[in-house]
Parts: sequence; structure tokens; C-alpha cells
Amino acid sequence: MLFGNIDRNEKGELLFAGHSVTELAAQYGTPLYLMDEQRIRDNCRIYTQAFRENFPEGSMPLYASKACCFVQLCRIAEEEGMGLDVVSAGELFTAMKAGFPAERIHFHGNVKKDEEIDYAISCGVGTFVVDNPDELEALQKRAEAAGVVQNILLRITPGIDPHTYVAVNTGTVDSKFGSAIETGQAEEIIRRAEALPNVHVTGLHCHVGSMVFDEDVFERTVAVMVSFLAEMERSLGRKLEFLNLGGGYGVRYIKDGKKVNIAEKISDVAQALKACCAEEGIEVPKIQMEPGRSIVADAGMTVYTVGSVKRLDGFKNFAAVDGGMTDNPRYVLYGSEYTVLHVTKNGVKARFDLVGRCCESGDIIQPKVMLPADTCRGDLIAVCVTGAYNYSMASNYNRVGRPPVVMLTKDGSYVAVKRESLFDLSRLDQ
Ligand SMILES: *Cc1c(COP(=O)(O)O)cnc(C)c1O
Repeated sequence: MLFGNIDRNEKGELLFAGHSVTELAAQYGTPLYLMDEQRIRDNCRIYTQAFRENFPEGSMPLYASKACCFVQLCRIAEEEGMGLDVVSAGELFTAMKAGFPAERIHFHGNVKKDEEIDYAISCGVGTFVVDNPDELEALQKRAEAAGVVQNILLRITPGIDPHTYVAVNTGTVDSKFGSAIETGQAEEIIRRAEALPNVHVTGLHCHVGSMVFDEDVFERTVAVMVSFLAEMERSLGRKLEFLNLGGGYGVRYIKDGKKVNIAEKISDVAQALKACCAEEGIEVPKIQMEPGRSIVADAGMTVYTVGSVKRLDGFKNFAAVDGGMTDNPRYVLYGSEYTVLHVTKNGVKARFDLVGRCCESGDIIQPKVMLPADTCRGDLIAVCVTGAYNYSMASNYNRVGRPPVVMLTKDGSYVAVKRESLFDLSRLDQ
């Protein structure tokens, strides 16, 4: 079984979470996002259990909803006892629609508009993660106007390079996110916040990047952050309750790709944390982490129908499908790897570039994939591990509607997000 939820039946047809992909495509049409609900829940439980076992009471993993955000997913995260990260009024509105408890929501992002700040305050969002001094001043004003004292974490840049793809590195000094320890700006923003009457600093936040596989990235981060936290506690003369270590554990996209044992990693982080706190002589803070990708990526699969096959003998073959960069821009953005499977045929293989329907030569889902040589128009193709940063990054380029999201459960399937209709696509046009 591939990735623990992909298999073939005796006829060689693809099964996802135990369901026939052919039947799902017939029932819901293509392109189609499928999500294995139990896998999402299991991924949440890896974090909630590891947190219970390793960190002080009051610690909490938060699902970074930007990885994939819709109402039903927020409900699932809620039921699994996760907190929730949002970065915009749109994500926050979705969470509120799902009935997500506002006190377990963190409002993130390096640009928060005044009206978004007002909206989040009016929702009762538990924590703002403040990125920069401009935001801090704006939040002070809005919180004062609303007559509240808003709990905040300050986003600190620890100066750690997680050695992942450059577009997803966020922890280095020259990052656009947060205030750097190295430049003195981190200390400055903490002092400034401490002096403001309508914000209350409950702790520090950092996030070093995405697709983290390196052994000791979080341990190095813990070392830097704990020593800075201790320094700040001494100079402020009070305890900072929370340390948020951000998200970023990598996931396996291809069969032989690296896989992180998250439960083990969290226990390693906890060891490092305890050692660092003991050395600094401070109490272990309550820990938060913000997994996005590792909650939803391997719960997702995208199913397409082949629209045309082109064979350029001596050059290459193309298989073009009824979706593309509109539903999965990740190869275009990052050169991301994917596992591509033919849904019904298992025969002799030839090399294809799997491309989309958009008017861009760069509209490639995955180059150089091995598919049956007789792949033809009308065949179904599955792209695996598409649960993260696919639906949430989808666009309407070429006025292509976004695919529906269909949830798979033990007993059946249900639509969690409807297919975008032609009417939906033009509904805002005057
Ligand atoms: C993107 C992001 C996350 C989630 O990262 P993943 O790689 O999806 O786990 C968490 N926290 C912050 C601040 C982020 O920007």
C-alpha cells in the first residue's frame, strides 16, 4: 500500500482510503479533490497525543489553516482538539462559520489591515501573533478603541536556516517575517509592547520554514528561543507563558522520499526544551506548534481526466488533463515532486510530462512521470499527496472553476466544498 491509504484492487484499479477512484470520478466528475477524513484525524492525533505526553499542560498544537481551509476542515480540527491559525479575515470568517472557538484561534500574518484587526477583535480571537512594529501600533489603537486588552505573541526571527527550499525559509535574519534577535529589533518590539496598555504579551513565536526534514532544526530553534525567552523574562521581571515553535515538518510526496516520525521528533524537541530551560533556570513554557502540511498533505488526492495525449517521437510525450496549475500550482512555484498514477491501467510504461489545460507552457503538474504507454483521452489520472497547498492555492486562471472537495469516510463520501459553477465564476461581474 502506498502512503498507507492508496492501493489497487484485484482488477488493478486504484483505491483511495478504501474507495474506488473510478467510481468517485464517475459520481463527482473531474477534476476532483479527494480527502481521507480519517487520515486528517490521525494526523491531528499524532500531535495532540505527543503534546499530552511531552509538554506542560496548556500546550497546544494549532492547525495552520492556510494549508487547506474550508468549513468542514475547521470542524474536524476543532473536534480533534487542535487550535487554529488564520492569516486573513477570509480564513477567520471560515473558522467562525465552522463554530471554531475563537479563544483557540491565532491571528497571523505580516500584513493585517485595520478592518481585519477590528473583525478579529470583535470575534474574540484569543491571540494575535504580531509580526512588526507597525502592526503593534495599529493593534494598540484598535484594541483601545474596542476597549479590550488583546493577548499577543511576538513573532521573533531566531536566525535559523532550515536548509529547505528558499521560498519557504522564514527564520533567517533577512526574512520578511518577524523581528530578528540578531539586530536587536526583537528586544525592541518586546519592550515597546510591554509599555502599551491594550496589548498583553503572553509569549514568543517563531517559524523557521516549511518542509523541514533536518534532524535538529527544531532543537536549534529551541536553544535560541529559550535563551532569548529567559533573557526577556529576566529583563521584564515576569514570566512569558507561551513559546510557539511554528510549523514546518516535511511530508513524503514520493515513494522513496524522506518521512518524518513526528511523534519521535516532538519527544526530541521536548528533551531539548527541558535541557535548555534547566540550563537557563526558567520554568518550561507552554508549547505551541503550527502544523499545516503534515496534517492534510497525505490525506489528499487529485483525480483528473486526460484530454489529449501528444507523442513527439524522439522528444517527449505529453498527457494533458482537465486541470493544472489552477488546482495545483506547486510544481510551477517550487518544482515540487509528486507521485502520479494511472487510475485503471497498470501496463507497460512510457515517460510523459503531465501538463494542464491552461494557456501557459509552464502549466506543468509533474514532468517525466511513468504512465502506461497506451494512456489516452478519457483515462483517469491520480496525483497523490495533494491535500496541502493545492485547494488553498487554487485559482480561476482561464476562468477554470475550482474542483470540489469530497471527503472519504469509512462508510462513504460526502461533498465538503462544492464544484465552482459557471455562475459562480461570473457572480461578481457587473
Ligand atoms: C506556513 C506556516 C505554518 C505551517 O507550515 P507547514 O509547513 O504547512 O507545516 C505554520 N506557521 C506559520 C507562521 C506559517 O507561516
